[in-house]
Amino acid sequence: MKKIIKKIIAYVFIIFFIMFFIQNVIYKSYNNNYIEYSKFITELTQNKIKEVKINDKEINVIKKNNDIYNTYIPIDDNKLLDTLLIKNVKIIGQEHNKSNNNIIITIISSWIPILLFICFWIYFTKQIYNSSKKAISFNKNKSKLSKSNKIKITLKDIAGCDEAKEEISEIIDFLKYPNKFKKIGGKIPKGVLMIGPPGTGKTLLAKAIAGESNVSFFSISGSDFVEMFIGVGASRVRNMFDQAKKNTPCIIFIDEIDAVGKKRGIGINGGNDERDQTLNQLLVEMDGFEINQNVIIIAATNRPDMLDNALLRPGRFDRKIYINLPDIKGREEILKIHTRNVIISNDVDLSLIARSTPGFSGADLSNLINEAALLTVRLKKKKITMNELEKSKDKIIMGVERNSMVMTNKQKELIAFHESGHVIIGYLIPKHDPIHKVTIIPRGYTLGVTCFIPKSDSINENLKKLNGQISTLYGGRIAEELVYGKKNISTGAYNDIKVATLIARNMITKWGFSEKLGPLLYNNETNDSIFLENNKITTKYISDATLYMIDQEIKLIIEKNYIKARNLLIKNIDILYSMKDALIKYETLNYKQICNIMNRKII
Ligand code: ADP
Ligand code: ZN
Repeated sequence: MKKIIKKIIAYVFIIFFIMFFIQNVIYKSYNNNYIEYSKFITELTQNKIKEVKINDKEINVIKKNNDIYNTYIPIDDNKLLDTLLIKNVKIIGQEHNKSNNNIIITIISSWIPILLFICFWIYFTKQIYNSSKKAISFNKNKSKLSKSNKIKITLKDIAGCDEAKEEISEIIDFLKYPNKFKKIGGKIPKGVLMIGPPGTGKTLLAKAIAGESNVSFFSISGSDFVEMFIGVGASRVRNMFDQAKKNTPCIIFIDEIDAVGKKRGIGINGGNDERDQTLNQLLVEMDGFEINQNVIIIAATNRPDMLDNALLRPGRFDRKIYINLPDIKGREEILKIHTRNVIISNDVDLSLIARSTPGFSGADLSNLINEAALLTVRLKKKKITMNELEKSKDKIIMGVERNSMVMTNKQKELIAFHESGHVIIGYLIPKHDPIHKVTIIPRGYTLGVTCFIPKSDSINENLKKLNGQISTLYGGRIAEELVYGKKNISTGAYNDIKVATLIARNMITKWGFSEKLGPLLYNNETNDSIFLENNKITTKYISDATLYMIDQEIKLIIEKNYIKARNLLIKNIDILYSMKDALIKYETLNYKQICNIMNRKII
């Protein structure tokens, strides 16, 4: 905004000076036309004057030969009027105009409104011109037109989504050998919708199609279409398709299509004209070109439920490709891809990192390697080792180590006891995931962490394992209780309690593990559907008696596992103390150190 004001002021000044200059010149030339009074009197007596306009002391004179000049009356000339009458000169009196005396004020007062108007006019026409220009050259501003020779991404650069890769290889084939498909009469979709969480490689897959089949690649984000000016988005869509048609075969990639493709007519304002227009234009364009024009539109979203149904109709985005977060194997492969161009030391075990990064997307893993590389440089090391990778992983999961956080020795001891409780129960309880490490270095919001590594991504949990998890979660709280007494326990177990309660609740209401309540779904939550945000439906179809029973059963599960953990910890109280000592000494303990302590060996 400041810029705009500065611009306007600059315009005002420039135009003002130009006007001032012009007016000055005119004024001067006007001034030049003044002649002395005596000459006027002479001409008057010579009968040369036709008309005078008298304005106070200034006289505008028109001669009989139509020459015009001005003159000033030097003193009060009482005889002038008589002489003029005698000589039959036409006399016109003019209103006395003071401002005439001050030419600068005249200029300012008469020109400033006009000036301001001109400035605003220039400014706004410029604005409108700019925005329309933006709309016209969609590839210059907002979207990148990259020709295939620039896209070097191939299927080899993508891992962890084998099904999606298979599906796109069909599209690649079509783009490579269109005639083969046309002969058979096969239909290749015009529109492909890639559905998956952020960072799972949707853009990457679209680029790989272009890279593999050597076609042009246009990309634009759905949010680029949504503009302030009505009609700009629609014209952008039109232009995008025009360009694409000129560059066939090609791929148009629309990221975040939900920004334009939201269901029409819903939302807080009950709809958005600009977005609706843009979406309509998109639909019109998609219907307008033939399948055999070799243009394939790929759109990406992580909210398919938000999309307008019209977009998903046959002939539009009727092919859907789902991309999920990578599993262990996928994560390891992605890590391999991203470590191709960095120097890693021989001790690095990518499968171990893959195992300990459940829920990481491809982008997270790429970020992990990048962070580790940066850390390696910072530490002035030559190769990335396991240490850097572990540190970067922890940073991504838990936030940066808070080295500066001051902790009293008392607090540190409490956290060490708490975490040791988790470790010991996790180690001893049957069927628990193997322990990975424990730390009392505070990060982000957590004060200490015990990490377990699942052997495989847990899709199915069994009863024993779930019970073990609950016991382990209470390990921290129980350790505090045993050491400090019931009255001195901390609030640090909040999250443990929350997770444990949730597991127990799910065991009973969703997974059918309760004998009493049977294998039924007791779902009392609000309707899951996300796109009904505006009219959430709450259905209560569980009786109060059943709810009471559910609560009782949850309590029972928790109590059972709590007592189990408590007994285990009491039996191994000596280990609790030695584990605490080790934690205070080293702050982080790895699997080997933990095993030694558990076997009552000195570390
Ligand atoms: P999306 O479009 O799904 O949000 P991107 O394709 O933009 O995700 O992924 C961002 C980055 O993450 C990519 O440039 C790539 O480095 C990495 N990445 C994501 N998924 C994968 C994958 N499946 N294989 C390899 N790298 C991946
Ligand atoms: Zn805890």
